[in-house]
Amino acid sequence: MTKNKPCVSRLNRTDTNRGPLGSDYDWQLLIDDTAVPGVRLDRYGSGSVYVVEDPQNLLTVLYNGDAVNMAKGKTGKIYVPGVLLSISEPIVTLLDTPTFTISAIAENGLPASDYEIEIRRMGDNEPWYKWYEGSSKTFTPTARAAGFYEVRASALLNGTRVYSAKKDFDVYFPKVENFMYEADLQPTFNAMWTTTETETTTTQRREHGCYITLNTTNGMYGTIAHASGPWMENDELAGMILPAQNLNLPFTPSPTGMAVYVVGWFHTHTPTTYVTFAERSVGPSDKDKEHASTNSLPGIVYDYLEDPSIPGKIPAGHPLGMGKKLYPITPPERRLKPWNMD
Ligand SMILES: [Zn+2]
Repeated sequence: MTKNKPCVSRLNRTDTNRGPLGSDYDWQLLIDDTAVPGVRLDRYGSGSVYVVEDPQNLLTVLYNGDAVNMAKGKTGKIYVPGVLLSISEPIVTLLDTPTFTISAIAENGLPASDYEIEIRRMGDNEPWYKWYEGSSKTFTPTARAAGFYEVRASALLNGTRVYSAKKDFDVYFPKVENFMYEADLQPTFNAMWTTTETETTTTQRREHGCYITLNTTNGMYGTIAHASGPWMENDELAGMILPAQNLNLPFTPSPTGMAVYVVGWFHTHTPTTYVTFAERSVGPSDKDKEHASTNSLPGIVYDYLEDPSIPGKIPAGHPLGMGKKLYPITPPERRLKPWNMD
């Protein structure tokens, strides 16, 4: 051991029995370098690095020759340097900006430098990606790749890289409320609504829809895969199925990468101006809710405001041009694992 320097070794026991001089203060030092979670994980999880402070030269000067134990009345100190990582929000939504804070404990006497934060997708065989490297102890990235992750911090403590314990970090897809009224999307929504009304005739009508994307490189929302439903006779309810869509472009970005994600879907409901049935409900249908739930993908439907005389519904003969609004379709769970979707 060298005073005031980290030792990259494992000390099990010192055997300093002095024979005829009697026993002295043998001691043991446990360095917990296992990955088993527990009370010591943060404090000692940094591995087999420890520091000896020995201001009274107990380790280098022998006080032999009398019956007094050589360490009597003298003190030394052994401590384990460690690196801690705290996350302001361990569960965030794409484009959120959580703060990661590194603290190096037991820095007394140790120069700490070269802070790093690494991230990997959940799983022991997943590779680590360097997310931050520098002299600052705080890092505020923008979350741009969705998924379940582990993160860890490290620092050079007097030349030895010491790692923090791993922490969970999840990046979710946005909720429908996050993008429903996004200005960039409204022209497409309005155009599809106008087309839906314009195409309505005394004999037929149809729905229009698209997927909603989020480009996490620039934070812009957009639409893709514009589609029309089948023409429906006026004696039957209208509906449509959006074509199958690759929901991830690129399919699985690096944890530190960016992507264009499909984060939602949109469609219109049709006028009842010329229908031959008596009335219909407004807002998400049961099939709409089922589709959102099956794909864990929030949706938006453009539909008329209810007729106050029949709450939740509009009657046949409801004129074109009546008031409309966007209705959210919220799935029970948000989509978390884009690489499992197709
Ligand atoms: Zn619908």
